[in-house]
Amino acid sequence: MAIGFFGALPLLLGGCPRKELPSATSGPSVSVSSPSPTPSAIPTAFNGERAMEHAKKQVDFGPRPPDTPELAKTRTYIISELKSYGLTVTTDDFSASTPEGRKKMTNIIGEIPAETKTIILITSHYDTKFFKDMRFVGANDPAASVGTLLEIARVVASSPTKPKVTYRFVFFDGEEAFCEGWDDCGNEGNPDHTYGSRHYVTKLAERNETEAVRALILLDMMGYSKLELGRDTMSTRWLQDIIWQTGRELGYTNVFVDRPEGVGGDDHEPFLKTGIDSVDLIQLSDYHYWHTPQDTIDKISAQSMKIVGDTVIASLPRIAAHEPPGQRRSSAQ
Ligand SMILES: [Zn+2]
Repeated sequence: MAIGFFGALPLLLGGCPRKELPSATSGPSVSVSSPSPTPSAIPTAFNGERAMEHAKKQVDFGPRPPDTPELAKTRTYIISELKSYGLTVTTDDFSASTPEGRKKMTNIIGEIPAETKTIILITSHYDTKFFKDMRFVGANDPAASVGTLLEIARVVASSPTKPKVTYRFVFFDGEEAFCEGWDDCGNEGNPDHTYGSRHYVTKLAERNETEAVRALILLDMMGYSKLELGRDTMSTRWLQDIIWQTGRELGYTNVFVDRPEGVGGDDHEPFLKTGIDSVDLIQLSDYHYWHTPQDTIDKISAQSMKIVGDTVIASLPRIAAHEPPGQRRSSAQ
């Protein structure tokens, strides 16, 4: 159970540097400080079977690249689920110039408002990669992370008390490259990937919200039945440490491991570039079905989604309680 165990945990959140060099060999570097964040009384538990149902629904829609009827169906499904949990849902339509021509894309944003202006973003992409000659349904990439994100939203929204920080669940369109490889097409100013996340970063800036974002958590390919999450080397260390330590305290020591996971870019990259602390929960290595017709529902499990869901939910109060150093965020409260 995620509830009630915080009080017993001497989690220390003091003195967290903003950036640390990732280290493949060192153990978790979360320091211990008190007092522990008070647990928010969330009466609902993460249900792995519900997350699995969300994943199956998406896979049943078929391949879901940007600007297709199948992705539109997925979007309708995500929006209706978020609304049913009581979130405030908005969509942001934009169009992007891609190697396959101009494509209409839409980010989906579900929000649980709070007492302060501080924002924590919890995110996943919801498009599948476009393949000309392959039926790619993306059970792990990204149906599992979308399903997990929906279930996290349901649990967090069920809290009877207004949260201290705003939780915003963002579903990005157009993460995947249209060309075969990540860097085959596009250029420095207009890469052929992360269309939705880059668009969202510009929206945050337009709305003067960049400084208010405490952290971004990205879920991507975290539903494999043989789940093992290494440490993405681009991610912000203090944030990764909180999640890794929380996962281990929940008993998932075999999942939250210290080996480096180098994915070479993902939806968190544009946020990191704009100064937002970000972490990617991703298993790319050892997932042999990545971008193949075999990325099917039998490769993912309800248990893996629950492990990530429980860990993220239990990490949220700790991330919310993390006091960033410096002046940058003093206006965010
Ligand atoms: Zn992918």
